[in-house]
Amino acid sequence: MRVAIVGAGASGLQCAHSLLSSKAITPEQLTILEARDRIGGRVHTHEGYDLGAAWVHGTGADWGRRNNNNKKNDYYHNNPMMKLLQKTTPVGALADQHHLRCVCNGNPWMRPQSVLHQASQIQLYQNGDPIDPADPVIPASLREHYTRLEKVTKYGNQLYAQGRGLETAHVSLQEALQQEGGPVQHSLTLFYQHLLECWYGAAASELQLCEFIDELNDEEEHSNDVDDDHQWDTTYSPEGDFYGPHCTLQRGMISVLEPLLCDGVQERVHLGEPVIRMSHTENDTILLETQRGSLFEADCCVLTMPAGCLRDALRQGNFFMTPLSSEKQEAIEFLQMGTYKKVMMTFDHIFWPTEPAFLGMVRSLEASESSKNLGPSLLLDNLWASQGKPCIEAVLFGHDGTWATGKPDEVIRDAVLDFMEEAMGKSDLRPHCIDCHITRWEEDPYSRGAYSSMKLGCLLRHAEDLRQPEWNGRLIFSGEATITEFEGSVHAALFSGMNAKDNVLRLLEREEGAASAKVADQPSNSSDPKILSIA
Ligand SMILES: Cc1cc2nc3c(=O)[nH]c(=O)nc-3n(C[C@H](O)[C@H](O)[C@H](O)COP(=O)(O)OP(=O)(O)OC[C@H]3O[C@@H](n4cnc5c(N)ncnc54)[C@H](O)[C@@H]3O)c2cc1C
Repeated sequence: MRVAIVGAGASGLQCAHSLLSSKAITPEQLTILEARDRIGGRVHTHEGYDLGAAWVHGTGADWGRRNNNNKKNDYYHNNPMMKLLQKTTPVGALADQHHLRCVCNGNPWMRPQSVLHQASQIQLYQNGDPIDPADPVIPASLREHYTRLEKVTKYGNQLYAQGRGLETAHVSLQEALQQEGGPVQHSLTLFYQHLLECWYGAAASELQLCEFIDELNDEEEHSNDVDDDHQWDTTYSPEGDFYGPHCTLQRGMISVLEPLLCDGVQERVHLGEPVIRMSHTENDTILLETQRGSLFEADCCVLTMPAGCLRDALRQGNFFMTPLSSEKQEAIEFLQMGTYKKVMMTFDHIFWPTEPAFLGMVRSLEASESSKNLGPSLLLDNLWASQGKPCIEAVLFGHDGTWATGKPDEVIRDAVLDFMEEAMGKSDLRPHCIDCHITRWEEDPYSRGAYSSMKLGCLLRHAEDLRQPEWNGRLIFSGEATITEFEGSVHAALFSGMNAKDNVLRLLEREEGAASAKVADQPSNSSDPKILSIA
């Protein structure tokens, strides 16, 4: 069976590696077509900086210590990234200690109270001054944030109880907050909402209320009059991540993918071969044409193009020369790619606190409206604290990411510096910013966004339809968007690659079954040695 994989990102490489490891096909039967002149896709470590994925979102089982006695629920509890890192860990060492830098002891975006504030992992600024970590405005804003979330969750649960669950896919978090949450008292409350939007890679106006249903099971325990010591954020279970610390990697995210290049995979990658057309032929094979004019024929194709590229291909009209099912077309149209721009600014000296992993900046709604660029909150990763680099990484997502898309570098950089100056009370940051790199995943034709999420109106059936093979089972869809439990992550992409391998093996079994049946149908004196050897 000849297998073509489109895309050499985490999903494509994992699929290729699993297929060759299974020995179901030989390296000669495998072709990987990659549009860019590098492997990795949205994993891109450049000169020590991760321009795409950077975080291991929970290590899962404690690899190296507990991996032998934690086989139960393997799929959901073990981060597959750790298994890969284990392969390049020296004998006697532990993968987490060798490869990882533990930044936070849990999910900082979903659990600001315990993971950020109690561990002193964030310094906040407002109106030109740092906010004292003991300032009562912090617990008051956290309480307001969680109370508002609690109210929208109750509202979502009510709709469900009334049998109106489907509606929750059409109501945005923003609408529900406005309707149920009431006016916001503290501008800092919006910063915690901003963190949540960062985790989902989408603005509250794009997030489905559906995501917030059934998070709270015990109304008594989470009632609004909780005392100040209550861990409010434990009520919001981490979504799409694993147990354990959230970490970055000593050698960058690319070190997760390197083990997948062995066993003949690397030699099968054709770089600089964007696929521009594909079709299902009458003799049940798949033809792929690349921009360079190369033609490839395969018995099966694993397509790992990101959701945004699939949508482009569909709308273009001449990419899928054999039409896809209407369910698939609808699913592709309903998925959205979120924005997540990294504005990586190197300074000639460190003027910010060296210890906390994050800096948070807040300004009033009026100030952000009059500036007409960024919203009222800004999240900065302190790369000095995590990596010893004199660099601040501002992350622009949701509304800010959309605003920045397509804008020139200087405009984006200046908007971020203006915000920082205003919040921190500084007036001279521009000349000290000696380098600035801004990621452009949204504008890139081979990613068309940062990572997928279910936009308003998108239903679980769309996600299921996206996963279904087409063209008599020969066109297999893979990539992070096909794994709803973890969508938008490297681990989702790795899981999708494993699933794609299973689909290829099923197809192979089907073919072998058909070949045996054909042999069985033949007169008993006809024994074609070739066919028998396949069976
Ligand atoms: C800025 C940013 C930050 C992120 N942060 C994190 C993080 O901290 N942790 C985390 O777990 N995840 C993170 N993610 C998400 C993670 O990077 C992705 O979910 C994952 O890498 C997707 O892998 P994939 O193989 O599904 O897709 P991709 O990596 O996009 O691979 C698809 C491949 O297909 C290729 N391709 C596209 N079109 C064609 C074509 N026509 N012909 C041939 N090849 C084509 C592309 O070039 C690409 O190499 C982040 C993503 C971004 C952009």
